[in-house]
Amino acid sequence: MLLTPEQTRALYGHAVKNRYAILAVNADSPAAITDCLLAARECDAPIIIETSLWQLTGHSFGAGNPILGMDRYLSDLRTIADSKRFAEVPVVYHTDHIKGPDTQRILEHAIASGASSVSLDSSDLSREENIELMSSLCQFAADHSFPATLEMEAGVDDGVTPLEETDELFGAVEKVHPEYLSLWAPGVGTQHGLGSDPNAFSAEAVQEHRSRASEIAGREIGIALHGSSGLGEEQLSSAVAAGVAKVNWSSESLLIRSQAARSYYAENAGKLENGHSDFKNTAMDHGVQSFVSSAYVSRVEARVRSLGGMGRGTSFWEGNR
Ligand SMILES: [Zn+2]
Repeated sequence: MLLTPEQTRALYGHAVKNRYAILAVNADSPAAITDCLLAARECDAPIIIETSLWQLTGHSFGAGNPILGMDRYLSDLRTIADSKRFAEVPVVYHTDHIKGPDTQRILEHAIASGASSVSLDSSDLSREENIELMSSLCQFAADHSFPATLEMEAGVDDGVTPLEETDELFGAVEKVHPEYLSLWAPGVGTQHGLGSDPNAFSAEAVQEHRSRASEIAGREIGIALHGSSGLGEEQLSSAVAAGVAKVNWSSESLLIRSQAARSYYAENAGKLENGHSDFKNTAMDHGVQSFVSSAYVSRVEARVRSLGGMGRGTSFWEGNR
């Protein structure tokens, strides 16, 4: 079931309190969304389905128009997440890397449309601009009486963020607009993409930032981990133990899906000839997508397991129905 912003805030709190993290997948096609929900259902785990600007404007959704993209994406996700098959799966829709001149308009649209939680990409923003944009989203929600649950970030690709920035950024928004922030995403040594140095990750930084943000807010604030693709099992476990509540997963997920699709077309090249008796079944979108699914779903499940997500769906609903 697609969670409201209030339920999502409760879910993030549940994750920090019980020391597990929720997998957040950049699912960039309707088939990828289906696969993530199947994996979450199998694990009885909550799942976050998130979109960056490139997905909203991408060909499967907005075809250049991010607002249209969000409407299409959210209606697709809501339809499948609210279906009987997935009624017991806590599903979050989150806006991930949104940047550029349309950021405020896109995110106000997300809040007005019932997005479960919202964040933006602050990499091109000054400290002041980051605070101003986050504050304006809180103000927009307050002005229209919309619930909103936010993740705030700071230089996630720039090494370990100094602890003072938790006060200067997170603290500045929390002070003027209390209760909207649920996640804090400082840099903790990870980098987006594949091939980054996994040894640069600092669980200690996670622990310190979590504890400082929670102290400022007076409630449990989880850390959102960006750039997790290069981390191994051991590092993920230490991240979760230190207070990571949300783990973004994009590059490795894309790698698994694209390599499976490559194998499918390589293995079936002969059937894609005009006149082959199995041409139609092979050429249909269902052909490649079901092949990709058989390679991908178990990998999502493995990632959910390594974040301690097994059985957390039922345990979340027990207190939050
Ligand atoms: Zn990220």
